[in-house]
Amino acid sequence: MQGDKLFIEALDCRGKLVVVRCDFNVPLKEGGIRNDERIVAALPTIDYLRKKGARILLLSHLGRPKGKVVEELRLAPVAKRLKELIGSEVAYCRDCIGTTVKEAISHLQAGELLLLENIRFYPGETTNDPDFSRQLANDANFYVNDAFGSAHRAHASTVGITKHVERAAMGYLLKKELDYLHVALENPKHPYIAISGGSKISGKIDLIQNLLPKVDKLLLGGGMVYTFLRAQGLKTGLSLVEEEKIALAETILKENGAKIELPVDFVASPQFDSNKLAVGATEIVPFDRIPQDYHALDIGPKTVERYRAILLQAKTILWNGPMGVFEAEATAKGTVAIAQALAEATSRGAITIIGGGDSAAAIRQAGVSEGISHISTGGGALLEALEGRVLPGVAALNNV
Ligand code: AMP
Repeated sequence: MQGDKLFIEALDCRGKLVVVRCDFNVPLKEGGIRNDERIVAALPTIDYLRKKGARILLLSHLGRPKGKVVEELRLAPVAKRLKELIGSEVAYCRDCIGTTVKEAISHLQAGELLLLENIRFYPGETTNDPDFSRQLANDANFYVNDAFGSAHRAHASTVGITKHVERAAMGYLLKKELDYLHVALENPKHPYIAISGGSKISGKIDLIQNLLPKVDKLLLGGGMVYTFLRAQGLKTGLSLVEEEKIALAETILKENGAKIELPVDFVASPQFDSNKLAVGATEIVPFDRIPQDYHALDIGPKTVERYRAILLQAKTILWNGPMGVFEAEATAKGTVAIAQALAEATSRGAITIIGGGDSAAAIRQAGVSEGISHISTGGGALLEALEGRVLPGVAALNNV
């Protein structure tokens, strides 16, 4: 997918104005930044451009201001944190188009940074408005996309803008994400094992169908497994089931049953509040004996052992979606154990790729973030790419 796309290192940036679409959509808390991982993730591209002596314009969205100025969603805290991280001045403009921006750009020297305002303050961003796209380019020579998390959106800052620069290329973070996607979709080392969890089949069906021909095994967990159990004629008590997807689950099992692993036991409870994610006392139950007044809420210890043994044989692992209601302590063990198994597999030489906020959170909860090959920064973008869809933000970049 990305092999033919232009990379930042192919641009001759010295003295040129380069506009970079970053993903600085950081969680905020009382006016400050709660977690700066996304800013840190943009540093390789920023450092490269500074070293090359480019004049650097940074663009990002933050939150969902819906085309209006929302004071709490200004990018001032990002400018401050970025300045601390790079140990150098970061100019910040409370606009992203117009005369004040032009004025600030005219003062920008080689190697200097100017962060523009939240692009989603303008309705033209999400509608990919041609005129807004042109203004957003600010007469830059080059455009670099380093915002994988927004690559599935055809917005002004990801698609429209590319028409108003000489060259449009991918930055380091985007390239890293696409390199791992290439491994997962086109060039995995075998055995290749995918693990899919999360709440519903309906959210993961396209991913499952796209991955099944490519993987050696698909391990299923989370709320979607009970629809598969029902498709096998089993009783699932009060567990989550999508009645209208039972027939689909049956077809998938018929066509690919040999590749699909379902849990053999569960952690179940007679009490579960799905709004508060509160779980009562739990018991371990076999897959074919879920009591009728129980909710199955996590994979059980036998399943963890089975899945772990399979994962330790793998050369490539892709994981998306939790194995259970991991937000509650009583039903987090399965997800955390899978996180640990991935770290163990990585230390044995497997390439491990994790996508989705929940799985990434579980990896942090298990304290094994460092032991994973790649934790994707994109939720929706990763899911769409794994479903086999073209990402408009990538497609819009120049080919080599
Ligand atoms: P998704 O957003 O589709 O990836 O699903 C993530 C959510 O699925 C998490 O909030 C989990 O609590 C929830 N989940 C996982 N397993 C179960 C289960 N067995 N029953 C109900 N919800 C579940």
